[in-house]
Amino acid sequence: MTETTPSYGFDTLQIHAGARPDPATGARQTPIYQTTAYVFRDADHAAALFNLQEVGYIYSRLTNPTVAVLQERLATLEGGVGAVCCSSGHAAQIMALFPLMTPGKNIVVSTRLYGGTITQFSQTIKRFGWSATFVDFDDLDAVRAAINDDTRAIFGEAIANPGGYIMDVRAIADIADDAGIPLIIDNTTATPYLCRPIELGATLVVHSTTKYLTGNGTVTGGAVIDSGKFDWSASDKFPSLSAPEPAYHGLKFHETFGPLAFTFHGIAIGLRDLGMTLNPQAAHYTLMGIETLSLRMERHVENAVKVATWLENDPRVDFVTYAGLPSSPYYDRVKDVCPKGAGALFTFAVKGGYEACIKLVDSLEIFSHVANLGDTRSLIIHSASTTHRQLTPEQQVAAGAAPNVVRLSIGTEDVKDLIADLDQALDKACS
Ligand SMILES: *Cc1c(COP(=O)(O)O)cnc(C)c1O
Repeated sequence: MTETTPSYGFDTLQIHAGARPDPATGARQTPIYQTTAYVFRDADHAAALFNLQEVGYIYSRLTNPTVAVLQERLATLEGGVGAVCCSSGHAAQIMALFPLMTPGKNIVVSTRLYGGTITQFSQTIKRFGWSATFVDFDDLDAVRAAINDDTRAIFGEAIANPGGYIMDVRAIADIADDAGIPLIIDNTTATPYLCRPIELGATLVVHSTTKYLTGNGTVTGGAVIDSGKFDWSASDKFPSLSAPEPAYHGLKFHETFGPLAFTFHGIAIGLRDLGMTLNPQAAHYTLMGIETLSLRMERHVENAVKVATWLENDPRVDFVTYAGLPSSPYYDRVKDVCPKGAGALFTFAVKGGYEACIKLVDSLEIFSHVANLGDTRSLIIHSASTTHRQLTPEQQVAAGAAPNVVRLSIGTEDVKDLIADLDQALDKACS
């Protein structure tokens, strides 16, 4: 499918992986295949496609050539064997869990997650009969103790929202291995440029492509990337992948597709029946963004280090959580988990608490007050009154979103302007 090989460097792959000149027209940029359906060569061809005996395009709820380029590119950048794109990051999380779970099964998840993910896992998945046990992932014994016979996955964020905490991915991957279950890493806030979870032992990687991968705040999207390394048939825990599938005449996904079992299941069952499909226009914007991912991430990190250092030395600030600061308890972990930098997402506490945070947010001129991250624009949010509002006060504190804390997503603007903006807004907030 791809003309490139993984031996190329990241900067080359982010531009070329999965893409080639359009075979019909020679178009150098990947066309937006704005079509719902694809003409079959003949009736036998159609039957072979529907039986999964031949790979090809049937209907854009399942597969689309523009989306396929994005899937290939993401799989390559993450070092996986395949990827399935979907309509949002939250859709990707459901798509990752769907083949693993049945009613009564549970997942063990970090307390430090994106606010929407905490709500999805603590509330919404209950309607499927699934449940999540929240554990502090810095307490490895607690993670081990939370796993039981019904646990089907462990889930955490490499660089955790909102505080920018760094997860010890290797240590948690070892625990997952011992338990015979996959580790799923949400790599949204790190991106494959800063962190490569599969190399650290993760089985599956999920993304909200809405964030840094697209990078300009234009479209929502998500992806699940499979390492291809998990043996789904080693136990009877994952019958969707190892046992006969009634909807495909008893086909066994793992036996038939080997390392691509999870990816094929995601398309042939997940997208077909859940319909959380990414549209080709959105895939196009995300492909455009990924072409400059490494350049943007370098600047994001450089700016984040400067802003965090400035804030930490400011008397109006109580503390800064950025793992790229030597004062952070996660500073040493950065070298192992995300050697090119600790990302550009962190929180800081304003002396003056809740009221001062609200004033700060309202006084900023360059920073936008939005529920988003990973944009070229610098963004701020007071998590406790917005994204983490549905959580109890204890959950807010555990998630790093206490009422006296604001979250920054540092953009790629001139860092002098970002610091000046924070300076004038802190003056107003603390006066
Ligand atoms: C935004 C985000 C999500 C959810 O993604 P959507 O595209 O908004 O559905 C999940 N995890 C993390 C870390 C995020 O930042």
